[in-house]
Amino acid sequence: MRIDEEILPLPTSVRYCIIGAGIHGLSTAYHLAKELKSAGTGSGADILIIDKTRIGAGASGIACGVVRNNYFQPAMRELMAHSVSVWESDLAAYAYHPVGYMQISHEGMHDDVRSIYEQQQAIGYESSFIEGSSACDTYMKTIFHDWRAGGITSVLHEKRGGFAFNQPSLDGLEAKCRAEGVDIIGHADVRELEMSDGNVSAVVTNRGTIACDVVVMGAGPWAPHFWRMLNLPESTDILVDGTMISQPTWRYWALQEGTLAIDPGYLRTNAGEVPPVVHVDTDVPLRSDDGDMLVDGEWGIYYKPDLNFGGIQGGYMPMKVDKPFDEVAVDPYGEASPDFVVNDDFRMIWASALSFCHERFENMHPKMSREPSGGIGAFTPDSFPVFDTFAGNAHVIADSNHGYKMIGVGALVAKEIMGEPQALLEPFRYSRYAEGKLHPLSNSPYPWS
Ligand SMILES: Cc1cc2nc3c(=O)[nH]c(=O)nc-3n(C[C@H](O)[C@H](O)[C@H](O)COP(=O)(O)OP(=O)(O)OC[C@H]3O[C@@H](n4cnc5c(N)ncnc54)[C@H](O)[C@@H]3O)c2cc1C
Repeated sequence: MRIDEEILPLPTSVRYCIIGAGIHGLSTAYHLAKELKSAGTGSGADILIIDKTRIGAGASGIACGVVRNNYFQPAMRELMAHSVSVWESDLAAYAYHPVGYMQISHEGMHDDVRSIYEQQQAIGYESSFIEGSSACDTYMKTIFHDWRAGGITSVLHEKRGGFAFNQPSLDGLEAKCRAEGVDIIGHADVRELEMSDGNVSAVVTNRGTIACDVVVMGAGPWAPHFWRMLNLPESTDILVDGTMISQPTWRYWALQEGTLAIDPGYLRTNAGEVPPVVHVDTDVPLRSDDGDMLVDGEWGIYYKPDLNFGGIQGGYMPMKVDKPFDEVAVDPYGEASPDFVVNDDFRMIWASALSFCHERFENMHPKMSREPSGGIGAFTPDSFPVFDTFAGNAHVIADSNHGYKMIGVGALVAKEIMGEPQALLEPFRYSRYAEGKLHPLSNSPYPWS
């Protein structure tokens, strides 16, 4: 029985209460159950996941599912390398396709991407780097005979990474949780947190109060709401070059994604294989197939053939939501949102961008799916995650909306709950802002690179 099909009663107490049945809540629960079992101090039966709707009701259920290492920030790359290992540990259950990933860039990003490549070599993450427009064009044509993207001077080809089918991978995690005895209950909307001696002592839902020893929040786009429940600061002091500045802790961006509704088999390599995920950033003006100017400046797209979405699926650069976080309607979320689904401008740009890259996509704009797609994400001041513990026993997993690929974070948080601090999570503590321990910034047009 799926958790959205029946309203199960809630317990009045549980040792570990995990809020949010997305990638992070499920992964934390599964890994924590295994940790408790191997330590002989408990089992999955000590863990409850609650969700106000159902598994995959948030960003994890609509994520494009791209898994990559390509980050300019060393701490992000090390974290991603760990998560890629988790994806690779069970391809079938995680519906994971290890086809690789390509960052294909214009000259303005060349040095940044070269540095990513060099650091990937340093951590043993397999990739190759092609430089110069002619070499890039030749390389791309060995993969796609009809490659024709202009303005490209480097290609970073990650041999690991790829993509996962979003809901099927959550189903796989759900099965792993249930096999460990974890309970998952939907229709339980957390309204507040009860505090006692500075700790969270209970989670108050629309259907009753659950006392707990430890709480984990994997609330995706709703992270700012839990931030407020924990009485955490809504503006953040950040030490930048010796000067303290203040910024809103949360803001939203709308991710623009869609699908060219054709047989996914239409995009194969010259060898007939499923290609790596392709991500192109260029500064060559983008025109429609009819010659109309669409984008005069830098732009970028990513895409992959995806049976799960029923076509060639991917996205374009996100749009900033120009409102304070508490004025943004997060609900109804995703495809059900009246405000944050893509429009015809996106469809034209995205189809034209595909055509810019491959001759095979010329004049395919009318085949763009008209199903609602896209959704918002909650971003931190520097657009990097906050993984931290507040109020003594509240573990917050706020991935700044690039964390579907971070399936391994739950394994690391589970270890921290067991009392083992994790070096991979250390660079993502909230204190980094006030201490000025910031991640380096790249020249990518995306807020998450
Ligand atoms: C369109 C789009 C495409 C994306 N593509 C990618 C990608 O290709 N690769 C990538 O790495 N990342 C991607 N992301 C980002 C990624 O989806 C998120 O970072 C990640 O899924 C967040 O996971 P989560 O478990 O924290 O939250 P979610 O999956 O959002 O889950 C949070 C859950 O909390 C529940 N909840 C909320 N409030 C309450 C409450 N009060 N009480 C009880 N339950 C509550 C919700 O119902 C929801 O099920 C994408 C995001 C979007 C929007």
